[in-house]
Amino acid sequence: MIVAVDGPAGSGKGTITKIIANRLKLMNLDTGATYRCVALASLRKNIDINDEAQIIDEIDNLQIEFKEENGQDRVFLNGEDVSKLIRSTEVTGIVSQISAIIGVRLKLVDLQRKIAEGKDVILEGRDIGTYVFPNADVKIYLDATPEVRAERRYKENIEKGIKCTFEEVLDNINFRDKNDMSKKVGALKKADDAVVIDSSEMSIDEVANKMEEIIINSDAWRRERC
Ligand code: C5P
Repeated sequence: MIVAVDGPAGSGKGTITKIIANRLKLMNLDTGATYRCVALASLRKNIDINDEAQIIDEIDNLQIEFKEENGQDRVFLNGEDVSKLIRSTEVTGIVSQISAIIGVRLKLVDLQRKIAEGKDVILEGRDIGTYVFPNADVKIYLDATPEVRAERRYKENIEKGIKCTFEEVLDNINFRDKNDMSKKVGALKKADDAVVIDSSEMSIDEVANKMEEIIINSDAWRRERC
């Protein structure tokens, strides 16, 4: 069972897919974290963001793993827990440029497909329903206005102790939207057969309930679970 959840930065994909994964006992795969790991590794090695060949080569030295520890999803890069580091302002600042490199996408999409293979998974990203799993059993496109998304990310950052202003977060959201929507491969786009949920005026619970309803009423869910 493959559930694809796509949408722009700050639309609530991460929060909601975690809730749904717990409720419906699905594996939760945050595909953005794979791009963030490459961005972190590139920063650490001082690789020039324009040196595409070196960034692509570097991926072969990276082992990216997702594990659950004490009920929390953790991301490991070459054995190190980088769950927090990959959310830093520095990584967020370059990740959409890194993910626009076609060679990076090809390698990471391959990895994402391998991780999901043979499992019941909910994947969140930008191109899951259009490119990674075009035959996904359920496709959802989660959206919200840029201002609402920036407000959510801003609050999240402050809570995590990440220093920023609302304007910086809004600028980054607009910058990433533009980059993500204009990619040559795997651009952020609603799949023709995706159900849209606009979460701008909805609470987390309302969005989670709506998503759960869509999944459990799907043919694939009925076939597998009923
Ligand atoms: O979802 P998150 O904001 O963590 O993703 C970080 C970045 O990774 C996005 O801005 C986007 O550029 C990229 N990404 C992507 N395709 C995906 C998931 C994320 O290009 N499936």
